[in-house]
Amino acid sequence: MMPFSELVLASHNAGKLKELQAMLGDTVRVRSVAEFSRVEPEETGLSFIENAILKARNAARISGLPALADDSGLAVDALGGAPGIYSARYADGQGDAANNAKLLQVLRDVPDAERGAQFVCALALVRHADDPLPIICEGLWHGRILHAPRGEHGFGYDPLFWVPECDCSSAELPAEQKNQLSHRARAMALLKQRLGI
Ligand code: IMP
Repeated sequence: MMPFSELVLASHNAGKLKELQAMLGDTVRVRSVAEFSRVEPEETGLSFIENAILKARNAARISGLPALADDSGLAVDALGGAPGIYSARYADGQGDAANNAKLLQVLRDVPDAERGAQFVCALALVRHADDPLPIICEGLWHGRILHAPRGEHGFGYDPLFWVPECDCSSAELPAEQKNQLSHRARAMALLKQRLGI
């Protein structure tokens, strides 16, 4: 049984919001933190988990509701895990296309065998802003960075992320299929298990 009838999602990212909402289904009414404030907290943590907790606490504080946060990104093996927690602002806040262009440029001389990468998702759920026992779930999705973008679906680095088990990029997967396989889907499956829904 879902312990809440309503929760706030600590994200201004429309792509993430859509995916998380689809995964949670109608078990709970999901509201965006944007309904309460347009100001996003500074992500000062050094890990996905720290930033997810920070965002969840902030959303719970400003909404007065239980809050779920997703901190996610792309960790490239050849770059020691970069862009990692800095994935959204890899090209200094110039957006997804600039992030992708920068990644391709940085990896231009890296051969296929060394282009392994994982999408990472940390979910944090707090019952209230000062919750001493947040529920934390992580999901990883292993793949490889392509040499050029492919596909029109998804968001962020999806056009550059080759999914070996599907023989296509994650931007070539229909939303329903990505939502079953992705790092976010894996983290969400664990969270649902923890919540018993
Ligand atoms: P956050 O909003 O600070 O967690 O940053 C997440 C960033 O990681 C996004 O802006 C994307 O660049 C990247 N990212 C996370 N999940 C995905 C995904 O499912 N597909 C593509 N890019 C993703």
